[in-house]
Amino acid sequence: MPGRGETMRGQQPYFREHLLYINGEWVPQTDGEVMEDRNPADGSVMAMVHMGGRQDAEKALAAAYAARGKWAATAPDVRERILLRAANEMEARAEGLTQLMIAESGSARYKAWGEVMGSAGILRVAAGECRRLHGEVLQPGGAGQMSMAVRSPLGVVLGITPFNYPMILAIKKLAYALAAGNTFILKPSPLTPATGLAIAGVFEAAGLPSGVLNVVPGRSEVIGDMLVDDPRVRMVTFTGSSAVGRSIAVRAARDLKKVAMELGGKNPLIVLKDFDPVQAADIAAYGAFCHQGQVCMATSRIIVEGDGYQPFCDALVCRAEGLKVGDPREEDTIIGPLIQPEKWKFIDGQIEDALSKGAKLLTGGRHEGPWYWPTVLADVTPEMRIFHEETFGPVTSVMRAKDPEEALALCNDNEYGLSAALLTHNLELAWSMGLRMEAGMVHINDTTFLSGTTAPSGGVKFSGFGREGGRYSMEDFTELKWLTMQVGPKKMPF
Ligand code: NAP
Repeated sequence: MPGRGETMRGQQPYFREHLLYINGEWVPQTDGEVMEDRNPADGSVMAMVHMGGRQDAEKALAAAYAARGKWAATAPDVRERILLRAANEMEARAEGLTQLMIAESGSARYKAWGEVMGSAGILRVAAGECRRLHGEVLQPGGAGQMSMAVRSPLGVVLGITPFNYPMILAIKKLAYALAAGNTFILKPSPLTPATGLAIAGVFEAAGLPSGVLNVVPGRSEVIGDMLVDDPRVRMVTFTGSSAVGRSIAVRAARDLKKVAMELGGKNPLIVLKDFDPVQAADIAAYGAFCHQGQVCMATSRIIVEGDGYQPFCDALVCRAEGLKVGDPREEDTIIGPLIQPEKWKFIDGQIEDALSKGAKLLTGGRHEGPWYWPTVLADVTPEMRIFHEETFGPVTSVMRAKDPEEALALCNDNEYGLSAALLTHNLELAWSMGLRMEAGMVHINDTTFLSGTTAPSGGVKFSGFGREGGRYSMEDFTELKWLTMQVGPKKMPF
């Protein structure tokens, strides 16, 4: 029967009808809709996806809530085995999952394949964390007292994820939440629902008990507030835009729920004058144009010191013009389609604003259907919208700084603070600037778009709070309890 999440090792099974995954079963939507899931490259319908309504969301909440006690009590080695099996399943299905993301999200092959392999890696790290989740024995407060800090799961965690990295961003959340003993409801983006449901297929095959993971694609205007507001949900972990993140954090705060917010960025790359401009352009091009710039950590403000400016601009234009724009099914495509073809209007608006205020268009600025060409703007200043607003497209801005201090001031002149990078061989300067760059992640002599499985990833300022990765995620997905036991009599004050 179509739509089941059974083993989909080949390419074809993903291109069909997808049902919801609730309480360990593949079920049709009850009061939602069946949506055409379109390939952004050619607009063709690649699958039909069931989108949950309020009754479906209620079923997922009930299932996750009912399963939470038993899963929390499951031995760590059992959770570890399931996560390891999920990692193996992910790899066994890698080709099919890659094809799915190429078709559903316009991902180029290198990006989609990397996302699947990265997800398998995270599942293995999370598996290892199951046995490492421990508390602390504390100094007793008096004679006969045993005192401990004990970590326990929160209960039901709701994960809301964006379209751009639809697999790895969901795995980054749910793998650790499950490892810590929580149950999980995933609401993937309506632009990439089949990828979210494919994750459920992986866990089903790995033997995850019913109700522990529920995947309910749905429109936020139908089920978003309901899921966030439900008292059974004890934590909301969100990855997406800062505007939506803020509204969700405000809702969750009314019920004093825990939240983790992985939000947008306007990520600076500082190139100091001692750094080779051609090498700097290679680093910048990858950071700016990977996945058409639809990356939260995209290199979108490049601040170049002194005389290095012109050689750097020339080298970056050369790199940008050498990237193949086209159908992501072709192996050598680097720039695939924007997932929302109409996004060109927003991108053009930012570029026009910059040009009207003195910026220069060095290359790109052109679109055709869902394709937007890699674009480099020079002489960008803080007066321009593009200096401050996230673009989420293949556009990067270059600006001059007379010295490292001015570069630092431009870097920090932004409400976002996700990722930042600095290119220099001057170690003393690198260290002192690295400490002062206002971002949750700072990389010296590397790209802004860097991820590490066990590193704490997350932002500051308008880019959010909470840290994802390895033990940092485990801390986020648990609560710490102070537990004491008095052994023997204790004299009370009165
Ligand atoms: P988005 O518009 O904020 O949407 C993200 C998710 O939130 C979608 O699934 C969306 O579903 C859902 N949503 C929207 N309003 C909601 C509500 N009121 N209640 C519950 N869910 C709601 O972001 P996007 O356009 O998908 O993704 C791009 C953004 O994500 C960029 O800003 C990017 O920087 C950010 N991002 C951040 C990171 C990070 O790690 N920091 C990583 C990747 C992406 P609907 O479509 O149904 O509204």
